[in-house]
Amino acid sequence: VSVTIYDIYRGVIQNIWEGWMRYTIQPVIGYVCILLMMYLGLRYCINRKLYTMQAFVSVTGISALVFVVVLAHYIDGAIFTLYCFPVLVPLMYIDKRPLMYSFILNLSSYLLLAIALIPRLPRTYGEHQTFIEVLTTALLIVGAHIFARLIMRVIAHVVDNLIYQTELSRRDPFTKLLNHTSFYEYLDEEVRARDGFSLIIWDIDDFKQINDCYGHNVGDQVIACFAETLKESLCEDEIAFRYGGEEFTVLTRQKAEGAASLAEEVRGAFSKAVMQMHINWRITASSGVCEYDPARFKDSRAFFAAADKALYQAKSNPGKNRTCVWRG
Ligand code: GH3
Ligand code: MG
Ligand code: MG
Repeated sequence: VSVTIYDIYRGVIQNIWEGWMRYTIQPVIGYVCILLMMYLGLRYCINRKLYTMQAFVSVTGISALVFVVVLAHYIDGAIFTLYCFPVLVPLMYIDKRPLMYSFILNLSSYLLLAIALIPRLPRTYGEHQTFIEVLTTALLIVGAHIFARLIMRVIAHVVDNLIYQTELSRRDPFTKLLNHTSFYEYLDEEVRARDGFSLIIWDIDDFKQINDCYGHNVGDQVIACFAETLKESLCEDEIAFRYGGEEFTVLTRQKAEGAASLAEEVRGAFSKAVMQMHINWRITASSGVCEYDPARFKDSRAFFAAADKALYQAKSNPGKNRTCVWRG
């Protein structure tokens, strides 16, 4: 006697061809159609950067797949536990709305199947789900949802922490400006884009003497004062960095002349602001400016060296307290 996997369904299906049709061919046609629609939907969302919509499409698609599997194999009572799976799918999006949507969609889909649809279908293997079985499966879906909510909280916390740590590593903890490493990342990116932009470097004059005469605490306050002045002087698309101890840089879309007047503006504002600290010393800063030209600079280091040269020139005799522009 040959036994087939469809024997477990005997009583419902007598004929092997009908078995293939109901348990394999029809569901597979259903899966392929659903997967195709899911693929098109997800591609649409990814191209248009619709992230929340993408989560809803995934949940709907996977819920539809589960519905088709359960409808094809409803005779086997364990198949209903599959409903817990789509409830967990939105976890990867860390968004509560698709999580709730998936829970409501799958719980109602299951209840519809178990209470309204399946009792009308032929069944001889085992019995129809009893009230207790329906209740247990529904509670299992509720449990999966609660579990998903807890896990999502943990994931959200881990992701927040990761973002916070990444942001910390990109900034100088004292001034909260982007740090030296971030500066070169931004500079390399600007150089790669080959768009017009300029670099300004400021260096506070005779800072060592300020430290020596007034102490490092006062020196720190002077640095904080420069950083605040810089933040207040910039437009939205100008990015400021603390390059080193008392050295600051800015990347701006302006040409050399515009960048030079910005450098002067910041120097003037700083000298004024630092006077509020009532230090018996005229504190100033110098700056070097260079406009990027892809034909003249082979890489970001060569470009930075040119701006640094302009700063060195500003510091040179009878220098300091001024701005110089690199002219080649
Ligand atoms: P110049 O006008 O040529 O720029 O002279 P300078 O004394 O400013 O030049 P130099 O770069 O030699 O000195 C910078 C000093 O800044 C050396 C270092 O001890 C001090 N420094 C670096 N970072 C900090 C900081 O975070 N706080 C304080 N208080 N001092 C710092
Ligand atoms: Mg210096
Ligand atoms: Mg200095």
